Amino acid sequence: MAASLRMLRQVCGSLSRSRAAVRRLCSRAAAEAHHDVIRPAFPPLQSFSEEESMMRDAVKKFAQERIAPFVSKMDEDSVMDADVISALFEQGLMGIEIGAEYGGTGSSFFSSILVIEELAKVDPSVSVLCDIQNTLINTLLMNLGTEEQKQLYLPRLASDTVGSFCLSESESGSDAFSLKTKAEKHKDYYSINGSKMWISNAEHAGVFLVMANAEPAAGYRGITCFIVDRDTDGLHIGRKENKLGLRASSTCPLTFDSMKVHEKNILGKVGHGYKYAIGMLNGGRIGIAAQMLGLAQGCFDHTVPYTRQRMQFGKRIFDFQGMQHQIAHVATQLEAARLLTYNAARLKEAGRSFIKEACMAKYFSAEVAALTASKCIEWMGGVGFTKDYPIEKYYRDCKIGTIYEGTTNIQLSTMAKMIDQEYDG
Ligand SMILES: Cc1cc2nc3c(=O)[nH]c(=O)nc-3n(C[C@H](O)[C@H](O)[C@H](O)COP(=O)(O)OP(=O)(O)OC[C@H]3O[C@@H](n4cnc5c(N)ncnc54)[C@H](O)[C@@H]3O)c2cc1C
Repeated sequence: MAASLRMLRQVCGSLSRSRAAVRRLCSRAAAEAHHDVIRPAFPPLQSFSEEESMMRDAVKKFAQERIAPFVSKMDEDSVMDADVISALFEQGLMGIEIGAEYGGTGSSFFSSILVIEELAKVDPSVSVLCDIQNTLINTLLMNLGTEEQKQLYLPRLASDTVGSFCLSESESGSDAFSLKTKAEKHKDYYSINGSKMWISNAEHAGVFLVMANAEPAAGYRGITCFIVDRDTDGLHIGRKENKLGLRASSTCPLTFDSMKVHEKNILGKVGHGYKYAIGMLNGGRIGIAAQMLGLAQGCFDHTVPYTRQRMQFGKRIFDFQGMQHQIAHVATQLEAARLLTYNAARLKEAGRSFIKEACMAKYFSAEVAALTASKCIEWMGGVGFTKDYPIEKYYRDCKIGTIYEGTTNIQLSTMAKMIDQEYDG
């Protein structure tokens, strides 16, 4: 395991120092991925740098070996296996963009997207753990943290501490910035009172980024982001939800009862929390698009081989034109979802505007995941409806894609707003 971690870190963190050594080490993976390697001048969207290719291949292998054997039991027990979480840390997958100076992998946003996709092929619950950590928690701390906050939290987030993002409340979901949790200032600390709902990974989290209003008179312009350690007095983590899907991913309510948080634990500026949340969720949506894409591809990859083996009327069921057209249609949708997702990620990485494209990617990938999982059950016939195959789990897991990090309606509204603006004057 330590060897795998070293390999990933070598691949991602110190390419410049040890390019030749890494090349030798990974020559097989690189050779396999040769057709994907980026060449100059307008490469196709499904082109990856050498580092991205190697990262993707390493995660694919890791997911098969270290996650796949536990997926069914984790779903049934509704518990994320502690060894799976440790393995994610050991592989450097919980601090993908965190710099090597803070103990992270030092890789890119696009690599995170490939990792999220690969993990979701095997288990969307594990994928969302990695997604939230990388696209929301680590990014917020890297972009907004003081040096002291970074020194304190980034090494932990890269090595052993899960983070949770705490915005939603029982009365504020889509209308997130009408949140009621208040932070009252006293000398050099704040007293936070209120509650949160639907907080992913809260069961295992060691640190929570909590949005609370420090100036209620200013409306949403009072929303402030606080870094809260799990052992903070006044923080209570409620019983996890009993969910349709993503059962291994814990989703818990939190309550804050005069929770005392020192002002040095404010992330960024007082009253800027809503901006930070919007900014992070814009990028986060590309992560959810990748999760849905991976889920759909994983489901498809389990199903097509079955249709090539199963015989009816003396033929493989794949050979019926009625089946072939459906399979080709879903494969096309998958390809389109992948292009939308990768394009949004490349736009973000290039520092270009990507908000509309991220909404499109999330909206479309969630639709494609639902279509794919539903069709795959039909193509498998009766066995697709049983727990003997993983297809029914993909079907349960996919529904969340239309809900969290902005529902489908919210994605569509944001896109429409931007389209409207494009046609101004
Ligand atoms: C498994 C899971 C994990 C989650 N993880 C987190 C987390 O880690 N952190 C966190 O902060 N939150 C998390 N959430 C919360 C999630 O982001 C919200 O559930 C989501 O934003 C929707 O809010 P809501 O559930 O209150 O639905 P509502 O906002 O009540 O929406 C209900 C319906 O009304 C529609 N609707 C609402 N407003 C409009 C509008 N203006 N126009 C058109 N239609 C509209 C919606 O599209 C939806 O169909 C999680 C939720 C789930 C289920």
